[in-house]
Amino acid sequence: MTERKGLGTVVPTATRFLPVAAPVFAGNEKAYVNACLDSTWISSRGEFLDRFEREFADFCGVQHALTCINGTAALHLALLGLGIGPGDEVIVPTLTFVASPNAVSYCGATPVFIDIEPETWNLDISQLESKITPKTKAIMVVHLFGHPVDMDPVLEIARRHGLYVVEDAAEAIGAEYKGRRTGGLGDVATFSMYGNKIITSGEGGVITTNDPELAKRMKMLRGQGQDFERRYWFPILGYNYRLTNVQAAIALAQLEQADWHIARRRENAALYAELFRDLPQFQIQPEKPWAKNVYWINSVVLPEDFPLSRDETMAALAKQGIETRPFFYPMHTLPMYTSLAAGQAFPVADTIAARGMNLPSGADLTPNEVAYVVEQLAQLAR
Ligand SMILES: *Cc1c(COP(=O)(O)O)cnc(C)c1O
Repeated sequence: MTERKGLGTVVPTATRFLPVAAPVFAGNEKAYVNACLDSTWISSRGEFLDRFEREFADFCGVQHALTCINGTAALHLALLGLGIGPGDEVIVPTLTFVASPNAVSYCGATPVFIDIEPETWNLDISQLESKITPKTKAIMVVHLFGHPVDMDPVLEIARRHGLYVVEDAAEAIGAEYKGRRTGGLGDVATFSMYGNKIITSGEGGVITTNDPELAKRMKMLRGQGQDFERRYWFPILGYNYRLTNVQAAIALAQLEQADWHIARRRENAALYAELFRDLPQFQIQPEKPWAKNVYWINSVVLPEDFPLSRDETMAALAKQGIETRPFFYPMHTLPMYTSLAAGQAFPVADTIAARGMNLPSGADLTPNEVAYVVEQLAQLAR
């Protein structure tokens, strides 16, 4: 028997393979998809696209939301919409998913990497000004794993230097900074609805902004650059980045239950935090007093003196039916970006990324399963 605060006396067991994150369809997903099929509106126009965009904007508390094919395209459209192009620099945290700097590269601009701070694992704001050059056009903040970035100092620096602020909120729908939701904290924000994200449409992305002109430009870029009034007239080079009504149908059903998806993740995170309190050698992501962390993925950083390497730990947990993922490789270590980062050091990202792993975190994860994961990890420490 294992005594665990908050759980009483439980024998943690897992009766299934525990994924890091899997979609949960507990609402109108099927009904809405069937409505698309019945109506034959399955392509990139339709009722669900309109409804989703309106309701997503309301959810984030912003004026405009635009869907697109995925979170990577959302970033690309956001940067293009801001006019970022060759010769420009965009500051990007080195610990993120590859889509963040890649979108900068797609525009012909250059990502400039910045280290993370050791507690929240988000960009180290104290280093921001040292990264700004006459070519800098924007700061891309990434709300890593669902914890929002401390936005006020970022916005203050951006304002002083005349820079745009782009939120990569792919992992942080519903997260809050000082009571305000992600999506409206900078000039433009992007979200992902990939299968393992908090709400999903299979593949999908959303861009939010309060700037009507920017929204219009991004909408045009999304739709092949076609003039809104003149069919087959393409005044600019655009893209076909449109989401389908079928995907929006799934997304709308998911959005209707977003509060539930987030609440379930926060419940599990609270239990992880409680159980890890007895195992202080493991570092977990906190929730700063000014933040609401939506815990897309619960994570742990192993202590330096852990008896197993991170990868050995992951293999041992897999044998017990627990899926984990390594932290992202820092961007400055990837072949296409090493030369950009030559001569620069990112010591915090290097150590955290080497010892960090993501734990099961889906909305359907039960308290008993959370306890099982922590128990198995604790056993490896002995
Ligand atoms: C998932 C993710 C993306 C990209 O989203 P896709 O929908 O997979 O293209 C971008 N940035 C971050 C931080 C992500 O986690």
